[in-house]
Formats: sequence, C-alpha cells, structure tokens
Amino acid sequence: MPNRFSQQDDTLAVVIGSGAGGGTLGHELAKKGIRTVILEAGPRIEAHEHLDDEVASHEQLSWLDQRTTSGTWSVAKNYPNSPAWLCKAVGGTTLRWAGCCPRFLAHEFRARDVYGEMAGTSLLNWPLQLDELEPYYDRAEDKMGVTGTHGVPMLRANNNQRIMAVGAKRIGYRDVSTGAMAINPVPRDGRPGSIYDGFCYQGIRSNARWSTLNAEIPKGEATGKLEVRERCHVLRIEADTAGKVNGVIYADRDGVHQRQRARLVCLAGNAIETPRILLNSCDSRFPDGLANSSGQVGKNYMRHVSGTVFGIFDQPVRMYRGNVMAGQIKDEHHFQPKRGFVGGYLFETIALGPTFLALQMQPGAWGRRFTADLETYERMAGMWITGEDMPRPGNAVTLHPDQKDQFGLPIPNVHVDDHPNDLAMQKHAYLQGSRVYEAAGAVRTIHTPSYPSGHNMGTCRMSERPEEGVCNKWGQTHDISNLFISDGSLFTTSGAPNPTLTIVALVIRQSEYIAEQLNKLSI
Ligand SMILES: Cc1cc2nc3c(=O)[nH]c(=O)nc-3n(C[C@H](O)[C@H](O)[C@H](O)COP(=O)(O)OP(=O)(O)OC[C@H]3O[C@@H](n4cnc5c(N)ncnc54)[C@H](O)[C@@H]3O)c2cc1C
Repeated sequence: MPNRFSQQDDTLAVVIGSGAGGGTLGHELAKKGIRTVILEAGPRIEAHEHLDDEVASHEQLSWLDQRTTSGTWSVAKNYPNSPAWLCKAVGGTTLRWAGCCPRFLAHEFRARDVYGEMAGTSLLNWPLQLDELEPYYDRAEDKMGVTGTHGVPMLRANNNQRIMAVGAKRIGYRDVSTGAMAINPVPRDGRPGSIYDGFCYQGIRSNARWSTLNAEIPKGEATGKLEVRERCHVLRIEADTAGKVNGVIYADRDGVHQRQRARLVCLAGNAIETPRILLNSCDSRFPDGLANSSGQVGKNYMRHVSGTVFGIFDQPVRMYRGNVMAGQIKDEHHFQPKRGFVGGYLFETIALGPTFLALQMQPGAWGRRFTADLETYERMAGMWITGEDMPRPGNAVTLHPDQKDQFGLPIPNVHVDDHPNDLAMQKHAYLQGSRVYEAAGAVRTIHTPSYPSGHNMGTCRMSERPEEGVCNKWGQTHDISNLFISDGSLFTTSGAPNPTLTIVALVIRQSEYIAEQLNKLSI
C-alpha cells in the first residue's frame, strides 16, 4: 500500500515537485525520519510505460501548460511559447535528462570577485564555496552512480564521441573523455547497465540512467515516511499571521482545490514554476508574493549560453547510437579572459532524432539546401555547448499581465536579453566547435541556435545579504524560516556545468540543515 498522510497533518514537510531537487529531498528527509509528502503536478508513469518515440514521448512527459517568452535571446523568436523544455511527471525532468554530471570549478562560486564589475549584470558570489559543497558532491555522485567516481567505470565511447575526440586532440585540447555521467556502465544499486541504445532524451525504459523515479522516490517510499501524491498541481502557499507558511493549496486530478497543512514547505518546481508559485501566493500581507521583500523573486534567470555544432562527414557516423552526452571536452571550462569573455564553457556530444533535428537544426529553414542537410543525418556528428551566462536583473520570470492557465492563474513569461559576454562566448564556442570537426575531416559544419532551455537557474538565488537574493546558503528563504527553495532557482550564478549534480548536492546538504533545525525547534 502506498503511504498516505492526512491533509490535516500539520507536522509534515511538504515538497512541491518530484524532479532532481524535490525527489532527492523527499528521499533524504524520509531517511532522517521526517514524514514528507511530495505534491507533483504530473502523473506517475513508470519506466516500462515510457514511449520509445521522441514525439510521443515529448507529449507523454512534457510540461505543456502555456508559457510565453520575450527578449533578445533566439528562443523568444524560434520558440515563442516554449522557453523551456521540462517534464511534468513524477521524476520531473530527470525522466529525459542526458545524465551529464560535471562539477563546478572553485572560481565559479566567486564570480563577482573573479570577473569583477560587469556592466549590465547582477553578478554575486555564492554564499558558500566549493570546499563546503565538495563532501556533498561526493555523496551526490555516489547516489547517482556517476562514472569515474566511487569505482564506477567510464562509459564506452560511441562514434559521435570518437570523432569529437580525434578533432579535439588535433586542435590541441587535452581534457577529452566520455565524461562524468549518471548512467550505469555496469549494473549498480539495483539498476542495470546501459545497453547503449541511443535516443535517451526520451523516457528511458531500462533504468540504466539515474532518475528520481527509479532511485530516490522508491527508496524514500520504502522508509514508510514518504508519500508522493501525483496529479496535484500546487496553486499557492499560505502563511499564518506570524508570517510562517502553514499550508499549500493544490488542484487535485479532478481539478478540485485541496489544502495540505504543513510544518514546512520546500519548493522544487524548477526555476520557472518555483518563482511563479511564490509570485502567485500574494495576498494583502505579501502583495509582491511570498519571500519577496527583496523584490528578487523571479529575477536573475539564467539558462546557460548554448547552441549546437553539427559536423557533416563523408562517411556514416550514426551519432544517435550510444549514450547521447557521453562525450565531453573541458578545456574551455577555465577562466581565460584573454578569449574576450569571462566564464567558461563545455562541449558535450549531442544527437537528436530525425523529427527533432528537422524542427530544431535551423528553425524556420526551408527548401532544398535545408533538406539536403537533413539527408546527411547518417553522416552527422553533433556537439552541444553549455557555458556560464550572466545574471541580469531584467532577465526574469514574471506573471503574464493578461493570460491565465487552466486554473485561472497568470502564466509565466520568461524574459532574456543576451549579455554581450554571452554572445562573445557563444561565438567563440561555435568557431572552436567547427575547428574540432574540420580537424576530424568534416566537409561542412552547421551552427544551430539554442533549444528551449533545459537548464533553468537563479530565480530565487542564494545571497549573503537578504536584500540581494531570496534565500541563504541553505536554501532557507531570508523572509520565512520554514520556507525553502530546493531546485536550480537557488543558483547564485550559473557556472558552466549542467546543473543537476549541483542541485542534488545542494539538497542533500539542505536536508541535513532542515533536520537540525527541526531538532532545535528553530523553524
Ligand atoms: C533534454 C534535457 C536534457 C538534460 N540533460 C541534462 C544533463 O545531461 N545534465 C544535467 O545536469 N542536467 C540536464 N538537464 C537538466 C535537468 O533535467 C534539470 O537540471 C533537473 O531536472 C532540474 O531539477 P528540478 O528539480 O529543478 O526540476 P525538474 O526535474 O524539472 O522537476 C520539477 C517538477 O516539479 C513539478 N512541478 C512544477 N510546478 C508544480 C506545481 N505547481 N505543482 C506541483 N508540481 C509542480 C514538475 O511537474 C516537475 O515534475 C536536461 C534537461 C533536458 C530538458
């Protein structure tokens, strides 16, 4: 029997969202004996039910509620109703993530000091440093089974990686490998080894790749202290007269409004929905939304500098075989301002299925030149760029002035204006990516603009000073001691690495803090 807690139980920890942040936090709290309910807007779809077709899988797993976007970033032009590419299901976006798990470098926690005053940014140092997070990175890597750590072997290279590696070495790169990946090369932790079947941006049936659906949630439920309540869409959080949160209003699977009482609330809806819930939780006492006395909720949205370089070769590559992102170049990750920008970036192999390639390779393209490129699918190699983008106060998730969702609440708008540093980095990465493929013998390269964002960060950032952010270094909001942020919204700056390992490390650390505070009765 699944665990089921009472909606009247005011001793519970309530976690909103079951993805990398919420699913992990639910397990960690339950392990410590803290009775926890996760409210998840999407359905529970077990791995064996995941569809093996990229379009059907997208429809099965994605967050398709209306969103809008604006600003100078290419996503606003190419995908006006789809700023981000996220999941709405138990497991969140860990159902379709690629599994790439690099760590931040030390200087990325001190961006304000290292990069200096950058006009048009809201750069800050993180209120915690790498040495404080390192033990939690270790635990996150162990939990997720990251290759190259804790005795987990590396994944085997596919053709996409081999071609990238040949070109990379020819132009002088040295830090080239199949990378740190949360995909089992061999059976581990009750999950099987990878069968290297490719197309792993869909839900993955084999469970070789870590997700909260196949690891954290069942382990949490097995403690008897965790309930995952599916199809429960949180509308707002409520506070008592003393200014502490005490309950959450959600629409259940039939759209009926329900109230779950809470001892504390942790928000892990990803960096668009998390600030949206806080902004939608306004009332006469909190006219600007909860935890927003600084006015920073929703601001400083970051999504990483990104883009893809495809190389076309005269022989078959079949980039889609094997693990999508098990190929990484890290030589550009470091701080080297002589390149004309601050921050660094990584190259990671990528492969799209034919339908998504047709939609996303050159959005809006048409005609014989475009179809001729698509015909080279078998001969294509692909690498993706993920680089540090600059936080900017105007880059923000805000409530749409007119448009409402199915529950009558304002939908979110995501506004991004590229900073000149972002554009300089992207230009450098496109050129270097082309050099890599040309050195490996490519006959032509194609530069693809950013896809809808999979990495979403910064909209409730951690800050030393309350007036500069939304929460402290534990993710506890500055304004409300029993309200926590438990996803990528926490990030003070984006760093270059894919964010999930850092999210998992931060919430493991947060769970210890919550347990201590509960013991001391200080929240
Ligand atoms: C195609 C793709 C590939 C990726 N590959 C990588 C990778 O290789 N490495 C990496 O580090 N990252 C990768 N990512 C990013 C990674 O998936 C995210 O960083 C991670 O899942 C974020 O965790 P989260 O907990 O913040 O949000 P999510 O995992 O998105 O979970 C949020 C959950 O909250 C739920 N929710 C939202 N609002 C509400 C509400 N109002 N009520 C109830 N529930 C709600 C959602 O339904 C969702 O289930 C990838 C993303 C995509 C799209």
